[in-house]
Amino acid sequence: MSKRKLIAGNWKMNGNLAANEALVKELLAGIGQPACDVVVCPPGVYVAQLQGLLAGSPIELGVQNVSTHENGPFTGDVSADMLKDFGVRYAIVGHSERRQHQAESDVHVAIKAKRALAAGITPIVCVGETLREREEGMTEFIVKRQLAAVIHLNGHCTSEIVVAYEPVWAIGTGKTATPEQAQSVHAVLRAQLRAATEQADRVRILYGGSMNAGNAAELLAQPDIDGGLIGGAALKAPDFLKIIGAAA
Ligand code: PEP
Repeated sequence: MSKRKLIAGNWKMNGNLAANEALVKELLAGIGQPACDVVVCPPGVYVAQLQGLLAGSPIELGVQNVSTHENGPFTGDVSADMLKDFGVRYAIVGHSERRQHQAESDVHVAIKAKRALAAGITPIVCVGETLREREEGMTEFIVKRQLAAVIHLNGHCTSEIVVAYEPVWAIGTGKTATPEQAQSVHAVLRAQLRAATEQADRVRILYGGSMNAGNAAELLAQPDIDGGLIGGAALKAPDFLKIIGAAA
């Protein structure tokens, strides 16, 4: 099933008021009418700034995390409803950096996806294996376990999520999965989604991990790669614009 691709930029913990404005202005000057959906995910503290900068533009607003809680005594957390107040449309959940550094479990990730969906925000659920897991032949087991937790908690609403396959060994390393390696994991994830929901073919499965202006077209040409989640290259407007162009 051919669907409109989604190109998502994960700015991670980068930027400041001036740099964000310069980056968005450069993106908006070059983006025209994109043939794919585009979202940028700045650090949470900048959502109000980005809401203003992106108003009326073809670029949507995302975030990099959402609380597992609805509201209440959870110091430092930001709820999905609060993010929705600022026009947030997408929330990355379960990025490997959070799984690794903030000890986020599969269950946390599933709950975050549920909170986002309940607020009308589309979760971008990240799954992916480490290099060691790949070398031990565990890739399929790991990504299926991570996605299964989300399916288990979200039931038929799973058709409303976006999945991002991000091999941990490819994130920020300059080592990209080959299009064949990525496609074979995407096909596994698609089959798992099909077993869970009749609407599985609606779900966009993004590839992430050192996607750049040079390798995007070949990755995006794979039948089950419906877009990209881009870190480093999303901070350089010319590179991000080329990736958007490759998703036509
Ligand atoms: C990411 O952070 O989700 C990512 C894919 O990073 P990079 O593109 O820098 O590998």
